[in-house]
Amino acid sequence: MIPVSCGEIADAVRGELVGVEPTAVVDGAVTIDSRAAGPGGLFVALPGERVDGHDFVGTATAAGVTVSLTTRPIEGSPCIVVDDAQRALGDLARFVIGKLPELTVIALTGSSGKTSTKDLIGQLISPYGETVVPEGSFNNEIGHPLTALQATASTKYLIAEMGVRSLGDITYLTGITPPRVGLVLNVGTSHIGKLGSQDNIALAKGEMIEAVRPGGIAIVNADDHRVAAMRSRTQERVLTFGEAPEAEIRATDVKIDGEGRPAFTLRIGDFGAPVQLQFIGEHYVSNALAAAAVGTAIGLTPEQIADGLNLAVPVSAARMQLTERPDGVTIINDAFNANPESTRAALKSLAAIGRSRGARTWAVLGEMLELGETSADEHDAIGRLAVRLDVNRLLVVGAGAKPIHLGASLEGSWGNESAFVETIPEALELLRDELRAGDVVLVKSSKAAKLRSLADALVEDA
Ligand code: ATP
Repeated sequence: MIPVSCGEIADAVRGELVGVEPTAVVDGAVTIDSRAAGPGGLFVALPGERVDGHDFVGTATAAGVTVSLTTRPIEGSPCIVVDDAQRALGDLARFVIGKLPELTVIALTGSSGKTSTKDLIGQLISPYGETVVPEGSFNNEIGHPLTALQATASTKYLIAEMGVRSLGDITYLTGITPPRVGLVLNVGTSHIGKLGSQDNIALAKGEMIEAVRPGGIAIVNADDHRVAAMRSRTQERVLTFGEAPEAEIRATDVKIDGEGRPAFTLRIGDFGAPVQLQFIGEHYVSNALAAAAVGTAIGLTPEQIADGLNLAVPVSAARMQLTERPDGVTIINDAFNANPESTRAALKSLAAIGRSRGARTWAVLGEMLELGETSADEHDAIGRLAVRLDVNRLLVVGAGAKPIHLGASLEGSWGNESAFVETIPEALELLRDELRAGDVVLVKSSKAAKLRSLADALVEDA
């Protein structure tokens, strides 16, 4: 963190100094994990589900932090005592970002592809200035301020991924880091259980567009009508991306190769250049165009953008991660998470790879969570789509995912092509028996359904 005195921090977070002088300075890392605490740093004691951060304040003090943010005094440790440590973390990040007026904040949200797109944007823009990119999916009221606090006077760009569970979430997060560039990727159905409808999801995500700072640029997806409509929520400049003819940043001539990697012509105004992505799945065209729009917004030339997209590689694991096993079986691990949109996109990619290789394709699917009342219908529709796409074999894992199997069994003329098992070990056994050289296997579920462990086991098999 940039050097800030404890007195300034206490003012910013409305806290009380206990056992520490106002002149003591924090100039090390801010962390919520005492194992990462170090000299000059600040430890935030959050109440966790299993452990209470306050139990680790002593460890953080021993590791050399200047002070800890706590909700009660801790004997022997310098503390700034506040009512709510999570809220104070946000207040601290807002204060620090306010001291960095030269920083360009690029914030993005969407139902699918936030993490993949922030990784792409990071690779595209980091050659042009020091860039802070969130780790993994650091996109909530804890991960976001922790990311923001990594910015220093030499940071040029801060990329901020923002997740939405409720109305007001984006307003809170953008209040910490007001974006000069605000991007909405898409509006799907993840978290519909809580928000109730796609229109409400759009309402919540559109807060991003309202939050764009004066003189900033809002970026919307022209291919998603709910996102395109968000342009009316700002007076600032709006850039559009997509395959729609009216989009300013466009892709034409989209083709998918035998590995599932898209190639297209990138069009920005009169400029056109070929792009070959290293990512698997046609949905990455949209993510790449979104990154291209961010590049345009910060003043990169179309040539720089096309070069950057050609060079970008996947960095976050378990998102359409392809492994060719020595025995000729290909595993596509997309089990980081799932919602109906990303599952449809993954199935389409699987089918495209199968077609271009003439290979037998398997979709191994687990439950998509947080779908509320629409859950059974959404799972059923996925099963039917697998049949329509001519995926050759479907293996449905876990009780919550069973409607996928039922939907597939009712669509068309499938017999034994779809199987249902209750557990991951049963799925593994079936696959070990039946997989043969040339097969392409997609593994996908929501995080909590844990099919990632199945994908890992399949990758290790040979
Ligand atoms: P989460 O909120 O679950 O972390 P996210 O929005 O950060 O998700 P990613 O982690 O990038 O998204 O990707 C999650 C899943 O969505 C992966 O299976 C990925 O292949 C898929 N995906 C990525 N981009 C898109 C897109 N534009 N449309 C649909 N699915 C996508």
